[in-house]
Amino acid sequence: MYSDKQQKTLAGLGKTLLANDHLKSTSKSEASEVIDQLIQVLNYHDWRYYVLSEPIIEDTDYDYLFDALKLLQETYPSLMRPDSPTQRVARGLSEDFESVEHTVPMLSLAKAYNDQDLIDWDASIKKLMQEEQIVYACEPKFDGASLALVYENDLLVRAATRGNGIVGDDITNNIKTLPSVPLRAAFSKYGIYKTELRGEVVIHKERFKQMNERRAAAGEKLYSNARNTASGALRQKDSSKVAEKQIEAFLYQVGVTYDEAGNDRTRDLKSHGASIQLLYDLGFKTSLKSHDDQSNICQNIEEVIAYCNKWRETRDDYDYEIDGIVIKVDDVELQDMVGYTAHHPRWAIALKFDARQATTILEQIDYQVGRTGAITPVAKLKTVNLAGANISNASLHNEEFIKEKDIHIGDTVILQRAGDVIPYIVEAVKRKRDGSETPVVFPTHCPSCESPLEKPEEEAVWRCSNRLECPAQVEEQLIHFVSKGAMDIRGLGRDIVKRFYQEGRIQRIPDIYKLNYGGIKLLEGWGERSVAKLKDSIEASKDQPLYRLLVGLGIREVGTGTAKRLVEAVDSVEELQNWTEEQLIELPDIGPKVAASIVSFFQDERSIKLLEELKELGLNMKKREQDMPQVKSTVLAGKTFLFTGSLQQFTRNDAKRMVEEMGGKLLSGVSSKLHYLVVGEKAGSKLTKAQKIETITILNEDEFLKLVAEAK
Ligand code: AMP
Ligand code: ZN
Repeated sequence: MYSDKQQKTLAGLGKTLLANDHLKSTSKSEASEVIDQLIQVLNYHDWRYYVLSEPIIEDTDYDYLFDALKLLQETYPSLMRPDSPTQRVARGLSEDFESVEHTVPMLSLAKAYNDQDLIDWDASIKKLMQEEQIVYACEPKFDGASLALVYENDLLVRAATRGNGIVGDDITNNIKTLPSVPLRAAFSKYGIYKTELRGEVVIHKERFKQMNERRAAAGEKLYSNARNTASGALRQKDSSKVAEKQIEAFLYQVGVTYDEAGNDRTRDLKSHGASIQLLYDLGFKTSLKSHDDQSNICQNIEEVIAYCNKWRETRDDYDYEIDGIVIKVDDVELQDMVGYTAHHPRWAIALKFDARQATTILEQIDYQVGRTGAITPVAKLKTVNLAGANISNASLHNEEFIKEKDIHIGDTVILQRAGDVIPYIVEAVKRKRDGSETPVVFPTHCPSCESPLEKPEEEAVWRCSNRLECPAQVEEQLIHFVSKGAMDIRGLGRDIVKRFYQEGRIQRIPDIYKLNYGGIKLLEGWGERSVAKLKDSIEASKDQPLYRLLVGLGIREVGTGTAKRLVEAVDSVEELQNWTEEQLIELPDIGPKVAASIVSFFQDERSIKLLEELKELGLNMKKREQDMPQVKSTVLAGKTFLFTGSLQQFTRNDAKRMVEEMGGKLLSGVSSKLHYLVVGEKAGSKLTKAQKIETITILNEDEFLKLVAEAK
């Protein structure tokens, strides 16, 4: 075993080996040694990356190590080892999974729903055991799909799904592709020859979100939730597709265990806590944060309740979905004495957190027209309380979503809210239908202007084609123009724009700058002062930096980032009007689709007229020195930031803007690439993770604001 420090030095080994032609002509004995070394190094980095989420080498160095190993193994196929990371390859298609019987049935868990249930359960165990006090081991109840792993002779030999609890599917080939599951684990060091472990397969919340974002962008069907996606991935017929789902396994139990002579040594591990610690030490992903993390051990039921409350508060901050806490009698001997019912162990209980699901009726569907004409069906629901919030709307995304879930109007639907995700419809409950429900007929014409809807073959979204005259689109475009991310005209919010539009005061963007203030003064709710303020902010907006105007114009595919890129390259709108697609593509971050959209916008007669009018009205159309991002000069240029917990002094969007203005970058997870972690209230696992990486500076909100102020 190498120390962490040695591992760091060995990180460059792959590159050195590959740079050296001699690698191909190594003798077999030398190759064997190097292979051993490479396997150790690669497995170590897999562990750092997939189990601890704290990589310490560059991805390219990892790739060099991997390639060097592959090359050696190709030269000497007989030196292949079953625990080599190169073995984590897909084994092709499986027609059907073989059934395998679990050594010990995989049972369900008894449930508790509140503190009193826990107190009662504790009392029953104390009474049964005639004990004054029981020690418990707690851990999150991971909301994924269960998994049983068998290790024999230190090697992973079998992986199975829970199935019906007695018999599951053999999914060994699929599991071997998961880097969070060690192919070899040194059980023999503890006198264990064969053992069956239990765990749960889950997907990191953020990665799940990204996966869906990618699918949405590609017009593909969205995954409805992480749990179903994880369990689907386990039973994926093509094992090369498993890894792309990015599932990981958390282990939470050491089951039956035998020594070399076949004696049952299950009871050698004296406590549940000790067995989880063993799993941690062997390189498995567990709920422990470090080898001596004792936070999961509770001396009595009061401590258990406190533990549960803490998790209830921080669960949204945790990187994985959990639906409760599992509480287990810690002492293994005691577990045996407390025993089992036919369905579940008596020595364990799952405290379920408040349902994040609720059932309600879908009363109607509204079709909303967005700024770019996209039609979004929105379910109007009978108001229902879901995890503390009253919900009466849920997006149905697009026509495909409705078809896929076979949603009818009048259906009983299951709503779900997970983490910070907005509520969505999981399914329509078909058995609750009484015949009065009606299938959804997606409109063929725009609900606002009645123009026919259109949809390119490869897209999922229907759009109203009447871009410039559709009232709903125009209204949204106006709202967009004045919004915070664009011209930022304070005092001209969404509702006021709508009102002014409906009253005919603002029909097109230039009208904003020609408002009849005298008339507004007479309107209900307006007065001398509010009108003066509105006028001031409208006038002031004429002086906004050029990129804000570009954003405000609502050119398709052009958001803040692209607008800034454009302004870096040109000096004025006029100049931009003459750019060709070929020239645009040369710019960083601008692809053919974006370039085409920009050119088509600027060539359109109506855009040309609009820009002329705005210029006439005195809007800034040029790049000015003071608007150029002073990015490069700040000491924080290139530094990476991550925000966690609930922020009190600014929103996530503000934070993002501040970071970008300083030339910094946002990261989505804690790794050695992170420079600053900014923590709000109730920060959770990200903080704990960051505390273990020396190079990360942890800031509270005040410290962050101070840093920003100083950097300017
Ligand atoms: P249930 O199916 O709701 O009765 O709960 C039992 C299931 O919870 C098990 O089959 C596991 O898949 C899952 N589970 C998730 N986390 C844990 C944990 N920490 N300990 C035990 N079971 C867990
Ligand atoms: Zn329309």
